[in-house]
Amino acid sequence: MLRVGITGGIGSGKSTVCQIVEAMGYPVYSADHWARELTNTNPTIVDGVKQLFGENVYTNNELNRKQVGQMVFADKLLLQQLNAIIHPVVANHFEQWVRARSRHRLVFKEAAILFESGAYKQVDKTVAVWAPDELRVQRVVNRDGITPGEVRQRMANQMQQDELVKRADFVINNVDNELLTTQLVRLIDNLLRL
Ligand code: ATP
Repeated sequence: MLRVGITGGIGSGKSTVCQIVEAMGYPVYSADHWARELTNTNPTIVDGVKQLFGENVYTNNELNRKQVGQMVFADKLLLQQLNAIIHPVVANHFEQWVRARSRHRLVFKEAAILFESGAYKQVDKTVAVWAPDELRVQRVVNRDGITPGEVRQRMANQMQQDELVKRADFVINNVDNELLTTQLVRLIDNLLRL
């Protein structure tokens, strides 16, 4: 079995790519989804986060993500400490998820911060989804109803696309939907040959 990590900056189209990959019959683990879920339900994370930020960051067993987001945005060390609590648990959860899918030839892991989090070490190959910055801004403005300035601010806080492209084994150029499917068919074909 081959494990493949899919990453890309905000609005690049990671989720869109993963939806197509899933529709083609391959399991996809969403690290962002599971990190959110486990942050509310996993006792190790809940205890660690409460120790870091105080008991009241959870309301009705749900983390106040906005409050925590504002705190870590202004404090890089705090963000590192939060990641150090969450990432090992998600990594372990991913391992179990993979084990339960051992009959598949390919499994995928979607992660916005595949390289930054160290999660790339848990996959055999990496794929970066790329799109022109202006198109990404436009897509996120349309999707989330936020301003172009807010999107650019988030982009500035992420690994830049040229760096992602340099580090990834494969690049998907997501400018057009039809081309996207063709590229993914070719990508899967290449991965199956490895
Ligand atoms: P985020 O990091 O914010 O979760 P993402 O990389 O997962 O973003 P998507 O949510 O897949 O990106 O795409 C952003 C928006 O752009 C979505 O509304 C999606 O429907 C749209 N989109 C993505 N790819 C295409 C495409 N090839 N053609 C048209 N629209 C697209």
